[in-house]
Amino acid sequence: MPIFQDQKGKNISNFQKMIDEKKNTIRKYYDEIGHLYYGQYKDVNVDMTKDINARCESISNLYIEIEDLNVKILRERGLKKCAVCGTENNLSNAFCFKCGARFDDADAIPADVIAPPNASATPSRKDNKVLPAEAAPVPAETGDIIEAAKAEDTTAEDNKEE
Ligand SMILES: [Zn+2]
Repeated sequence: MPIFQDQKGKNISNFQKMIDEKKNTIRKYYDEIGHLYYGQYKDVNVDMTKDINARCESISNLYIEIEDLNVKILRERGLKKCAVCGTENNLSNAFCFKCGARFDDADAIPADVIAPPNASATPSRKDNKVLPAEAAPVPAETGDIIEAAKAEDTTAEDNKEE
């Protein structure tokens, strides 16, 4: 596995490098916006709005790209972030262990295997990545709640072979 681990580390440092470059570009744009705005302040006949807005838009896009790279770095580390509360979860989690929000990514263990704390009656995942219920990781804090939810919804156990 050491080669695999090295590749992981390499990927992470590449992503980190890309993030640093994007941050530098953002700083450059902020700097330019300052100059453009000042030019406008000094001369009322000058309208730099277009140039300023173009840079603002670029900055917004760069922030999105950085967030995307952060997700990729987390993924390399076997983690993903809850979109609702921001807590880092294991890639295989179908629900956030902190707030219970559902993950709809391909890494999540199918939702009909683990009943969420507030189980709705509509398990919708239709792939064949079904794992036995006892193999599913259950965070200690929510274990009791999940057991209680399972007791309420006994059909979940019957449906897993579909
Ligand atoms: Zn959450």
